[in-house]
Amino acid sequence: MPAKSKANRARARNLRSRGQTHRDPTPEIQFPEPVSPDDLGSDLEAEWDSEWDENDSPALTDVPDDDSDLEVEPDLDEEEKRVQNEADLAAFNNRLRKGLADALAIEKHEKQEGKKRRGTRYDGFGKRTTERKRARTKKEADNDERRGFRQMSLAAMFRSSSAPSEPELSSDCGEVSARIVCLSKSEGLTEGQIDSSQQDLLDDGTDVDEAESPDETSASQKLSALMDEYRAQNQMTDTVAFLPTADAEAMNISANQYHHEDKERLRRARNELTKLAKSKKLDVLFRSRINLMVGSLNLFLNADTSFSWREASAIVAKTAERKESTARSIRDWIHAYLKSGKLPLHQYGRFSSSILEEEDFAQQIQLHLLEIAKDGYVRAQDIVDYVAKPEIQEQLSNTGRKKTTISVRTAQRWLHKMSWRYGKKKNGMYIDGHEREDVVDYRNNFVIRWKEYEQRMVHYDQDGNASAPTGFPVPQGPRFRLYLITHDESTFYQNDRRRQVWSHPSQGPTPQPKGDGESLMVSDFLCPDLGRLVHECQEARIFFRAGNNRDGWFNNGHLLAQTEKAIDIFEALTHRQATGLFMFDNALNHKKRADDALSSTKMPKRPKCGWSNVKDGPKMRDGILPDGTRQPLYFSDDHPTMPGWFKGMEVIIRERGLWPDNGLPAACVPRCNKDGTDCCCRRVLYHQADFAGQKSALEELIERRGHICDFYPKFHCELNFIEQYWGAAKLRYRISPRTSNFAEMERNIKASLDDVPLLTIRRYANRSARFISAYGQGLSGPQAAWANRRYHGHRVLPPEMVAEVKKSLPNR
Ligand SMILES: [Zn+2]
Repeated sequence: MPAKSKANRARARNLRSRGQTHRDPTPEIQFPEPVSPDDLGSDLEAEWDSEWDENDSPALTDVPDDDSDLEVEPDLDEEEKRVQNEADLAAFNNRLRKGLADALAIEKHEKQEGKKRRGTRYDGFGKRTTERKRARTKKEADNDERRGFRQMSLAAMFRSSSAPSEPELSSDCGEVSARIVCLSKSEGLTEGQIDSSQQDLLDDGTDVDEAESPDETSASQKLSALMDEYRAQNQMTDTVAFLPTADAEAMNISANQYHHEDKERLRRARNELTKLAKSKKLDVLFRSRINLMVGSLNLFLNADTSFSWREASAIVAKTAERKESTARSIRDWIHAYLKSGKLPLHQYGRFSSSILEEEDFAQQIQLHLLEIAKDGYVRAQDIVDYVAKPEIQEQLSNTGRKKTTISVRTAQRWLHKMSWRYGKKKNGMYIDGHEREDVVDYRNNFVIRWKEYEQRMVHYDQDGNASAPTGFPVPQGPRFRLYLITHDESTFYQNDRRRQVWSHPSQGPTPQPKGDGESLMVSDFLCPDLGRLVHECQEARIFFRAGNNRDGWFNNGHLLAQTEKAIDIFEALTHRQATGLFMFDNALNHKKRADDALSSTKMPKRPKCGWSNVKDGPKMRDGILPDGTRQPLYFSDDHPTMPGWFKGMEVIIRERGLWPDNGLPAACVPRCNKDGTDCCCRRVLYHQADFAGQKSALEELIERRGHICDFYPKFHCELNFIEQYWGAAKLRYRISPRTSNFAEMERNIKASLDDVPLLTIRRYANRSARFISAYGQGLSGPQAAWANRRYHGHRVLPPEMVAEVKKSLPNR
């Protein structure tokens, strides 16, 4: 076996060690993040960050890294809304397009930067460089000849059949046709197919004038507007921006000059290509190339706009959302066609060339991946699945490629080629969704609530010294002091070990167990003042063996029971003299409502015997009218005809005095108007104060016990300081001795969790408070992360720091 390179081994190791959730072994891949403010913080930060390195970032996304995604009950309403709202879909598509355009713009900008730098260093290429470049260009051209660009004098074919005006070319015809037959045979086509495709071309070649469009002027006005916009966007002062880097074109310049001036020749070529593009026998990619050529020629030949040769191709490439280099390809294709009738035929998979070398195909995949990346993270498997889709398979088989499936390893190589890089996302916290409008709205409100909470809290400096609560506007009382108690779950894996260790050759290789091994979930509460909630022999922490044939899945019921116990312990520790602020992640299973909670989503319109919102569940609780009176939703047990029946929406609304004279449907079909409030029974009830204000079971439990319940903004795990605690504990667990014994594993995990000192926990709490402080001062996610890497002093970010951030890292 050949020796692998060091880089390869490192990559292989990374692929093994990272991104492996217990259900999906495919590594997570992320798009490169342009902004990279990166310096090493204190030891604390480094610890957290290194943990972050190992601990997959999907914890930050909608797709958590542990079992919690399995426990989440799908919120069908939300899911439906997301899919059904077409406006959202369109907006999403626009974002996608914009994202791609931005990425291309950045790439282009970087290329130009690179070019400029080279320009300042060299006044021109030396003789040797020029020779080498020429040799390389020639070699590339030969390669192209061999695998992609095969000659085919279609132009000659047209003329020999319909217009014998250029007899000097007709002599080529027989030879060329023979060559097509020969080449096509190698692609597995029958002679009949070839004949018909030739026939198509010939048939199409009969009426040549069709391409002269009558409304060319209005089109040209549009085009010149487009060009202006394009110039403005690219701050392009002249055509220099389009000068190609390679000198292949420079070598051709004299030949090109000739073609540019011969407008008649260009017009003819345009018409020929227009006909060709209509042929249904062509595969998608080939036709798209022909279309690009035709578009470019149309623009160039349009007398009203008088675009230059390069401008024309650049606009066409741009409007087709292709790379800048495509513009050059288009020009090359046209030149090749004019010179020798060569068409930019392509063939996948010859001479072990990759399908990916086709920019069109790469672009299709890239778009697909960006779409996936918006909602979560990209896996190599996504490409494998994409290539296996029937429509893609068909597209590929049209090109004569035999092997049309790819392996995960190939997909990983492709991702690399398409500049996706595997690893943690920069900043360790910033992902799409973090700055989503609704999330930011929630965050802003959360910050306001937080400022109130903070006034009732004891704070600790970085050395653990306490300072008294400062607030006075909130009501004073025996339970004035507020303790922050944060909750979260995390899963430990048996085989989660430190991967990089010092080793000596004499030790020999140690076999590594495959997969994650056993898992153990921990659900716990953490308090900066009290540490873990432990009182006498009671503790709030629970271990959970999640999985089928184990403890099942951690759900809202488990969490409620655990929270109840946590409150007991908290009240015992504080002698019922303080209030707890119980904070949870904004996860669906945390926000589940009680079984008897008010909800109109499943209510029948008419009275119904034995109805309850949850099957075999309790009766729905009473509604509360605006004046505070209770409204039972069931008839009384001594009702003459419907004793104890559910009243149904109509009666409930009538009793509230809201029933319109012309009646109401139960629900709108297929769905309600976006901002309708009284279109149907469901909507009317949905907007009633008691229904709208229905709280989650967790909130109800905690408030019933006289404490406060709140939820962090979605995607903001940096605000939940327990995440750092998990990180610190896992760092310790990873270096504990390997064990195949589950009880020992559990012991190791416990020891790791208990080993994190209270002072460290307080620092973690301060770090999260700094983030909240940063958001409170108007910083965005990336800015807050930037600031937190540079400032570790206090729980409040100083205004000078905020000013510096805003200057150094302007909000994009
Ligand atoms: Zn409605």
